[in-house]
Amino acid sequence: MASVLPPPIESQVPISATKILINNRWMPSVSGKTFATINPATGEEICQVAEADAADVDKAVSAARAAFERGPWRRMAASERGRLLHRLADLIEAHTEELARLESLDNGKPVSVARAVDVAATVGCYRYFAGWADKVQGKTIPIDGDFFCYTRLEPVGVVGQIIPWNFPMLMQAWKLAPALATGNTVVMKPAEQTPLSALRVGELIAEAGFPDGVVNLLPGYGPTAGAAIAGHMDVDKVAFTGSTEVGHLIMEAAARSNLKRVTLELGGKSPNIVFADTDLDEAVEGAHFGLFFNHGQCCCAGSRVFVEERIYDQFVEKSSARARRRTVGDPFDPTTEQGPQVDEAQFEKVLGYIESGRQEGAKLVCGGDRVGSRGYFVQPTVFADVNDEMKIAREEIFGPVMSIIPFKTLDEVVDRANRTTYGLAAAVWTRDIQKAHAIANSVRAGTVWVNCYNVLDTRAPFGGFKQSGIGRELGEYGLQQYTEVKTVTVKL
Ligand code: ADP
Repeated sequence: MASVLPPPIESQVPISATKILINNRWMPSVSGKTFATINPATGEEICQVAEADAADVDKAVSAARAAFERGPWRRMAASERGRLLHRLADLIEAHTEELARLESLDNGKPVSVARAVDVAATVGCYRYFAGWADKVQGKTIPIDGDFFCYTRLEPVGVVGQIIPWNFPMLMQAWKLAPALATGNTVVMKPAEQTPLSALRVGELIAEAGFPDGVVNLLPGYGPTAGAAIAGHMDVDKVAFTGSTEVGHLIMEAAARSNLKRVTLELGGKSPNIVFADTDLDEAVEGAHFGLFFNHGQCCCAGSRVFVEERIYDQFVEKSSARARRRTVGDPFDPTTEQGPQVDEAQFEKVLGYIESGRQEGAKLVCGGDRVGSRGYFVQPTVFADVNDEMKIAREEIFGPVMSIIPFKTLDEVVDRANRTTYGLAAAVWTRDIQKAHAIANSVRAGTVWVNCYNVLDTRAPFGGFKQSGIGRELGEYGLQQYTEVKTVTVKL
């Protein structure tokens, strides 16, 4: 009897949204072009998606402008905007399983992670900002003279949003939720590697009842659709998450066009500092999670693990043992901790960094190669005896590659931790409260974790110092990036 193979995973995940969303209508691109989105576990095409470029961006910006100036959105009660965001959160929650599978298929992350982290945090993010919609308030200001002076916090207008592929649905929520809570209209481009979940959420946005033109979604490439958004004369603000290199281009495009407001969440090379007095096993597990979570594809990944000399050898041994135990495989297998890297380009880039680590004389203690011969799987890799000048210690790898670096004193490690163009996150592991605060206060980074890692919460701001970004996302600070302050002065 012939054995029966299970149906390919693609056929088990329904895909309904593959076009461009403008004015709550789905349409092909003006050029008629499409592009393939790939399953990174197999390297095979999942489906074709409409490829937006500048002509589609023009259409979407016109729709967003009309919705902002003339649509029901601006006249709607703030509490009603909140109600729509709550409805969207409920719809996403009701589709948790479907969305988690779609995210896993398109991005390669384990479906268990997509369910517990990506979808859950997405729902939480929309709910949190839904609550803010009717709580964005100005001030009354006692200016000199016989006047009544107050401020209004008004929406910025038409907002362009360009998002990455590492947490596709969650990055969509981080951008959309505060923009919508404050009454903006949006033209958003999902990453070309992972358009599917953002488009499916687009269907749920229409179903929730957001007015036409409030949210417009344009799958497509960065140098075409993305650049058209960043350089558009009628886009009032651009919010971008991605590489520092592209962050420079976004800011240039904003400067060259209409001085649109810019917020950027960019790369990192975050120091994770482990003192000898810490609980060693907790620190090993924390550093493992801090680097290998999401296959190392986190902008805040703790990719420079500084370990105090006294415990260095033990730490290396325990960390490499943990990395060897990490289960790499089919994202749809519930026991999988790590799926494939997102695409071939990232896969090649990560393997290239591993090669450079070898060539520059770092000690490869585990991993270092691909897993299997199909898809973009990389072994969890640990380098010891890394020094600060090596490429793997300076550049963002965005893959499952840990560099463990010895240090002797607090002052020395602070100097070395700060010797980077980045400043997104940092962590310290110690039982000594003075050391913990000394690090928290002196490391130049937007987030510092003490005895934990990757604790991101919708209520707490996140963003970078230095070339890790401009502005903050999440929390009240995130909301402020989507309003303009207007001062009104009335003669009494
Ligand atoms: P990565 O290197 O991790 O893919 P990128 O910064 O290239 O990160 O991509 C993040 C997002 O920026 C994606 O949506 C991508 O399409 C977009 N992008 C890339 N290049 C440009 C560009 N020149 N202008 C605007 N957006 C871009």
